[in-house]
Amino acid sequence: MKRSLKIGSVAGIGIYLHWTFLLLIAAIFAFYYVQSQNVVAAVSGMGLILGVFVCVVLHELGHALTARRFGVGTRSITLYPIGGLARLERIPSEPMKEFWIAVGGPAVNMAIAVVLGAALFATGGTFDPSVLQAPGQHVLASLLWINVALAGFNMLPAFPMDGGRVLRALLALRGDYAQATQTAANVGQAMAILFGLFGLISFNPILLFIALFVYVGAQQEAQQATYRAFTEGTPVRQAMVTRFVTLGAEDTLQDAVDELLAGTDHDFPVVDEGRVVGILRRKALIQALSQKDRSTAVREVADRDVITTGPGAPLYEVFQRMSEANCSTVPVEENGELVGLLTLENVGEYIMVSSAERSQAARRLSEGAEVAIRSAPEGDEPPSPRKG
Ligand SMILES: [Zn+2]
Repeated sequence: MKRSLKIGSVAGIGIYLHWTFLLLIAAIFAFYYVQSQNVVAAVSGMGLILGVFVCVVLHELGHALTARRFGVGTRSITLYPIGGLARLERIPSEPMKEFWIAVGGPAVNMAIAVVLGAALFATGGTFDPSVLQAPGQHVLASLLWINVALAGFNMLPAFPMDGGRVLRALLALRGDYAQATQTAANVGQAMAILFGLFGLISFNPILLFIALFVYVGAQQEAQQATYRAFTEGTPVRQAMVTRFVTLGAEDTLQDAVDELLAGTDHDFPVVDEGRVVGILRRKALIQALSQKDRSTAVREVADRDVITTGPGAPLYEVFQRMSEANCSTVPVEENGELVGLLTLENVGEYIMVSSAERSQAARRLSEGAEVAIRSAPEGDEPPSPRKG
């Protein structure tokens, strides 16, 4: 949030301007000024752009308030030069809820267009699309068409844009969520390439930015959906490291250095009478070695502020918490005793193993009856993962 300026809040949701947005305002002012050599024309041109961004904020509020109806909060709404972004606390796993949240934004733009159309009709104003050739002189009519365009553009199936989320929700209604995300992401990336080509041909930098945003966003969301698919409903026990090295409370930095060099572990739980009293992380160890004597007790250097978890805890939630807190190792305790370590690296390995097994199972299914009959007696039960 440091790079964004808070400009207010609506319904308890903070609205922020990203600093690059101020550059856009300056660029537009300069554009209109150079074009007309007239400050008044430049100001009215900017008025139209600000009107557009008010509509963008209302669009994002459409998402945020629909999400609130489903019990999903919104952390913030931020305006970027290429559009707005509502940061929802989570994306609901029920496809129909995601569908309505995605539709909520473009629906607001359509509603604005209808209201502006009614107002222009009542006052006898023109709203022929040709007003867009001189938008500064027909601000309301131009806003009407810009809202129609915003709704239409956002509904293109370019995941993670709104239309792409609608596509994912509809696909997920009939099948697997991760598979639906992957399909939506593939369509989104194909759309991004089209946007990029079109942006290049028409020399439109904003379209190029959107293409990049869609391309990268689609990839990230597909990856998150994969993590979720393989970790949701799985206990921590399945993915934890069970062979690891601990340090005693009386051990010294010299002992820690010996363990660090002898094995592949980076973070060492410091254990006193069976209980974890801290974690000695590699970074802290290296830093300590530059300042302290090797005979210093590891206890002095270890991080004592440790989050722990249990073997039965949901892997998906613990993994999310670790990623958010940028914490690479969490001790797993059962009845007050250390039974394992959950590391980001190991969760990654667990996902790779599960994903490889699942694709083998899917291939066997699609290879038809002959193979199915041959392999059926042994079954497809996945071997229980061994970690070390
Ligand atoms: Zn939207």
